[in-house]
Amino acid sequence: MTPNKKRFPALLAALAAASFATTASAEAPAQEATLCDQQAYAMGLRYQQQSAEIAALQRQGFTLATLRLEQAIERHGEDANLAIITDLDETVIDNSALLVRDMQRCHDYTAWDTWLHWEREGEPRLIPGAADFLAFADAQGVAIYYVSDRYQENKADTLATLEHLELPQVSDDSVLLLGPPKQERRSFVEENYTLVMQLGDTLHDFSEAFVSSVPLDEQHAQVEANAERFGVDWIVFPNATYGTWEEAELEAWEAPFLTE
Ligand SMILES: [Mg+2]
Repeated sequence: MTPNKKRFPALLAALAAASFATTASAEAPAQEATLCDQQAYAMGLRYQQQSAEIAALQRQGFTLATLRLEQAIERHGEDANLAIITDLDETVIDNSALLVRDMQRCHDYTAWDTWLHWEREGEPRLIPGAADFLAFADAQGVAIYYVSDRYQENKADTLATLEHLELPQVSDDSVLLLGPPKQERRSFVEENYTLVMQLGDTLHDFSEAFVSSVPLDEQHAQVEANAERFGVDWIVFPNATYGTWEEAELEAWEAPFLTE
C-alpha cells in the first residue's frame, strides 16, 4: 500500500468525460450506466485482478527469485546468516478486492481512507507463487523479513492475516510495519544478517532513491543506474493499480487524427 493523499488528477476527469461522450453518442445501453471519475481505474484493476498475464508474471518473478536465492545460498555457503526482505501488499498478498469495491462505489481508493478497515477485516489473497517461494527460503534456513507500510496500529490484524495464509516465519519481530522509514527497517535487517534479496511492487521497496517525493524522471535515471540489480537481488512484481506514477502525464502521438 502506498499512502498518497493527493486526489485524482484532471486526467481522470477527462477520461471519464470522454467515456461519457462516447456512451451518449452511441446506442443507449439498456441498463443505467453509472459513470464517475474513479471508473478510469477499471482497466488497471481488471488487469491486476483478472488477467492470466498478471498471474504468469507473478509466477515468473518468484521463479526468478528462487533461482537467485539458490545462487546466493551457494555463493555464501551453508553457514551464512542470510536474510531476504519482502514487501507485503501486491507482492505477497493481493488487495484488489478492496480497490474494486471502492472503484465500483465511485470512491477514490488512492485517498486510502478505506484501507484501515481492510487491514482489520479484509481477506487478501496470496499472490501466485509467493507461498512456494517463501516456503523454499524458510526450508533453506534463510531469515524472512516482511517490511511493509501497513499500519502499526493494526499489526495484530496483519499478523493474523499472514498466519491465516500460512506464510512462514511470521512473528512480531519479523513483520516490520510503518513507523520508521523503510530504509531504517532495511538497515535493521542488514545490521543483523547478510541481506541477499528484496522483493516488492513499488521501487521504494528497494531503495530510498524511489520514495514518492522523488520525481519520476529521477526514478527512471535511478532504474538505469541500478540496472544490474533488477532480476538479481531486486525482484520487482507488477502493480497496475497504484504507485508513485499514478498522476504522471501521458504522451500522445501528435499526428493528425485519422480513422479508416
Ligand atoms: Mg506493495
